[in-house]
Amino acid sequence: MADRPAPLFRRVAIIGSGLIGSSLALAIARCGGAGEIAVADRDAAVLARAEALGLGTSYHATAAAAASGADLVVACVPVGACAAVAAEIAPVLSAGAIVSDVGSVKGSVIRQMQPLLPDPRRLVPAHPVAGTEHSGPDAGFAALFDNRWCILTPPDDADPEAVDKVAALWRACGANVEVMPADHHDLVLAITSHLPHLIAYNIVGTAADLETVTQSEVIKFSAGGFRDFTRIAASDPTMWRDVFLHNKDAVLEVLGRFSEDLAALQRAIRWGDGDQLFDVFTRTRAIRRGIIAAGQDTASPDFGRRPAPEGTAPAGDGPPPAERQAS
Ligand code: NAP
Repeated sequence: MADRPAPLFRRVAIIGSGLIGSSLALAIARCGGAGEIAVADRDAAVLARAEALGLGTSYHATAAAAASGADLVVACVPVGACAAVAAEIAPVLSAGAIVSDVGSVKGSVIRQMQPLLPDPRRLVPAHPVAGTEHSGPDAGFAALFDNRWCILTPPDDADPEAVDKVAALWRACGANVEVMPADHHDLVLAITSHLPHLIAYNIVGTAADLETVTQSEVIKFSAGGFRDFTRIAASDPTMWRDVFLHNKDAVLEVLGRFSEDLAALQRAIRWGDGDQLFDVFTRTRAIRRGIIAAGQDTASPDFGRRPAPEGTAPAGDGPPPAERQAS
């Protein structure tokens, strides 16, 4: 049997063993990307669960303890907690250690973390555009990032060697890597992920508030469209609160555009302008087909949600592609 190549990193510290942290730990173990995987969680019960699940090779109650001796530290915490993590790990970082994260907003993460790090050029922010509505260590699975994008947003002065190493790790974990400026990332994700989540939170809230339609009717008659919104609206409230607080400008920009387009549809309905409705719906159908052609979703009528026949999907492989959402 061929020997495995030497791991990319000697010791990777994963700070936060939620959905993304635990999936990353499992994906790194799967590809042999690190000699040691040091897992940290501030909650003792969650840390014990991470250990029971065998997510890493060592378990730590503090970010500093996990980061000690690591050559890569990845903050897998809500965007609003990144400054606190940087402040905690900075005093213990080894010379040359790379710091990264997985946050869904990038400009704010750079502004929070970079000034606190001893070697700001070795900060390589990353955002795996893959997730589910589930949280915590039990939600993680090694295949989460397979064939998904991971966007790196290194600041202009980032060390190219550090960027290459982080890119290599994500590729080894199954992801396709793209590099772009943080502000561009934040605008793109505002429209492709953040706004859809806001709409989902809003529509489910509105349906729940409707006085003439009962809650049980909302559940009983929820057709495909609404059901998909409820799934997205079940996403972690802390994570999403932080996304909107930290990507405020881009979200407000796309929300303004969205509101104008919605008003145009409202007018078309009011005036019976079927041609306009038909044109918009035809254009959007082509976009859906493009997403399927690009392999970012499945074309099956149940959106890939029906369980696979026994024996066709290995346990622990996680949900089908459609349930992995871009976050
Ligand atoms: P999660 O499952 O809720 O896990 C969050 C983790 O962060 C937990 O380990 C939690 O610790 C820890 N944490 C929360 N607040 C903290 C604080 N103030 N200080 C230190 N640790 C703290 O969330 P997730 O889905 O893995 O999200 C983690 C990051 O990934 C977020 O930045 C999110 O934007 C990004 N992301 C998420 C998705 C997605 O679909 N979920 C996709 C891509 C990127 P406890 O165990 O104590 O709660």
